Amino acid sequence: MRSSILIIYTGGTIGMKTDAATGALVPFDFSGIYDEFPSLKRLNVDIDVHTVSPVIDSSNVEPANWVALARLIRDNYARYDGFVVLHGTDTMSYTASALSFMLENLAKPVVFTGSQIPIGVLRTDGRENLITAIEIAGARIGDRPEVPEVSLYFQNRLFRANRTTKRSAEALSAFRSYNYPPLAEVGVNIAYNLPAILQPEESPAELRIATKLSGGIELIKLFPGMGEEILRAMFSAPGLRAVVLETFGAGNAPTSEWFIRVIEEAVARGIILLNITQCGGGRVSMELYETGLKLQKTGVLCGYDMTTEAAVTKLMYVLGLGLPDDETRMLLRKPLRGEFTA
Ligand code: ASP
Repeated sequence: MRSSILIIYTGGTIGMKTDAATGALVPFDFSGIYDEFPSLKRLNVDIDVHTVSPVIDSSNVEPANWVALARLIRDNYARYDGFVVLHGTDTMSYTASALSFMLENLAKPVVFTGSQIPIGVLRTDGRENLITAIEIAGARIGDRPEVPEVSLYFQNRLFRANRTTKRSAEALSAFRSYNYPPLAEVGVNIAYNLPAILQPEESPAELRIATKLSGGIELIKLFPGMGEEILRAMFSAPGLRAVVLETFGAGNAPTSEWFIRVIEEAVARGIILLNITQCGGGRVSMELYETGLKLQKTGVLCGYDMTTEAAVTKLMYVLGLGLPDDETRMLLRKPLRGEFTA
């Protein structure tokens, strides 16, 4: 059975090609995808292309773009078996993490990809990323999709999107998933890691999308020598609702009196603090050292092995649901889309 795939092009390097006459980089028109890559016809998929307007460099992405993308997927959900989202690499992990939360009851593949070298440049990594992402989005076991979650494909690896982080502005393998194994490894064949892939319920409820994402989120990365005044200023930003605190090592922070006081005062004001580690790999376990224990006692929530991208976008999503405080905290304490391992 042939799969039907919708490619959604949002912008970024992948969408550029060299103009034969001038040598300058100009946008690539994905609607002519079969002319450019005739080999795509050999895949067992039918492809449609939607180019968002305007296409953007992903450094300009805003939550409003995520809502528009979620709506586009919802409006086309019944017509397609899978979706490939072409996105700039700079903030791809943020957008893909956000979508993993916003697409509730997702039961079809949504595969993000992009490239480090424009698709129209001879040595591009975009051609392989695009073709394999399409193949993965259309892959099935019987009548079920192989990867029914939001994923990110880059340089021979498929990752759970909300576990990824862009780690290199140079290497073609730009993304890492430090704390969760790849969902698939691509060599001569595509080897899917079935036990690692999220499966929807037997008869999943209808796809629903979240269209409200909360503002008032702050990201604070600790460093030795961060003074009290600076930290206080960060915690007194108007409209502040939640802080992702990037701590040291296994979730540790200074034990100085003033530091703990600033944190306790913020917690007392109802600000949610989520502790994640600024290390790429590994997890927060606040009971390991006194420097973590003190923080735990203030009421800071444990973010386990979550990426910054997942922590920020999960807070936007969960706070956007407008639930009472205890339900909000309950949702932050449990993995909603496999974004952390407790
Ligand atoms: N600045 C580009 C973007 O993120 C980089 C890329 O696509 O790789 O949109």
